[in-house]
Amino acid sequence: MNYHENAKIGTKAVWGGEKEYLVHGASQVPIIPSVAYTYEDMDHWYDVAVGKAKGHIYGRNTNPTVQAFEDKVKVLESAKAATSFSTGMAAISNIFDTFLRPGDKVVTIKDTYGGTNKIFTEFLPPKQIEVVFCETGNHEEIEAAVAKGCNMLYLETPTNPTVKITDIERMAKAGKAVGALVVVDNTFATPVNQNPLALGADLVLHSATKFLGGHADALGGVVVSNDEELIEKLYHYREINGATMDPFAAYLLLRGMKTLDLRVKRQAENAMKLATYLQSVDMVDVVFYPGLETHPNHDIAKKQMRGFGGMLSFAVAGGVDTVRELLPKLQYANRAANLGAVETTVGPARTTSHVECTPEERAAMGIPEGLIRVSCGIEDAEDIIADFEQAFAHVKSLVKA
Ligand SMILES: *Cc1c(COP(=O)(O)O)cnc(C)c1O
Repeated sequence: MNYHENAKIGTKAVWGGEKEYLVHGASQVPIIPSVAYTYEDMDHWYDVAVGKAKGHIYGRNTNPTVQAFEDKVKVLESAKAATSFSTGMAAISNIFDTFLRPGDKVVTIKDTYGGTNKIFTEFLPPKQIEVVFCETGNHEEIEAAVAKGCNMLYLETPTNPTVKITDIERMAKAGKAVGALVVVDNTFATPVNQNPLALGADLVLHSATKFLGGHADALGGVVVSNDEELIEKLYHYREINGATMDPFAAYLLLRGMKTLDLRVKRQAENAMKLATYLQSVDMVDVVFYPGLETHPNHDIAKKQMRGFGGMLSFAVAGGVDTVRELLPKLQYANRAANLGAVETTVGPARTTSHVECTPEERAAMGIPEGLIRVSCGIEDAEDIIADFEQAFAHVKSLVKA
């Protein structure tokens, strides 16, 4: 390892987990697309194949570029072990497939990522796996559900799109008390702002597609843990099931991660400025951002996060009609179902994170039809705010009418 264990996160992002993979004096990790690896010595080949010696056999199992990616995330999360996947959803479904069996029970929150929620509602119940949904942010309710016994406690904080906060340390304690595996989706927070392993989580996952990569040009997922056995089990299932990260994606994600600290700090700064501005806009009914003192769990966010992240959401008066007019007026924003990129990205919750739900279901989840999710980019906040100002000016007459 060519970084000091006590190095700060910006240094780790640049130098972490690379040295072992540099070849021919290159200063950058190469893309090694090779599917298979050749051996002269049959005994050495055998030893590598059965895991007695280090090396690579076949691309579905391991790949040097992909391992460099895993090592960098491991360093960023100060974890003991990591394994990667083709997408964030592959990471999540592989966790369920590896660790849950018929008759098991999962306790989770209502506001998990849309795809995760789909697995909970549609794909786990037919396998006789029970899923108990608790009100996101209602710690007493989660504790009571966990205390009845469960095999897995699955959390995500902050959540999509209303950035609700759950106390990881408190919930992990509750999970541990009943022997549950505590899993946290850390995609929104990133390792720059939050390290759930240090707060008691057993497994921490990321959609690397989002903030880790940061450039909306590569898909990936990753899971880290301080329990090497858990990661070994997960890896073993993945190498068979085949949801392997592509080496080209691993290269792009590695390249993106070098600037993770810079990007995430800037995005959080921009989010705080934009959230503060949005609170002053007449047409805006409500602003959700964990950095705002008006956020119901601002204190928990302050305790467990080093920064409040780049994600916020707000609801406009006039609902969908206003959204339809407002969003196309923005010049510096991609209207897309993505987040975590260097470009500011906006989308209505009803089209992006909660497109599968009916308006009634969204209302029950506290998601107004006029809710807009913003993933703040790294542009200058002044330009982004000015852009929103001109867009609001355009729709002002419409809302009044
Ligand atoms: C996007 C996302 C996922 C899924 O990741 P993919 O890479 O799109 O499969 C999971 N969790 C959260 C919080 C996400 O934002």
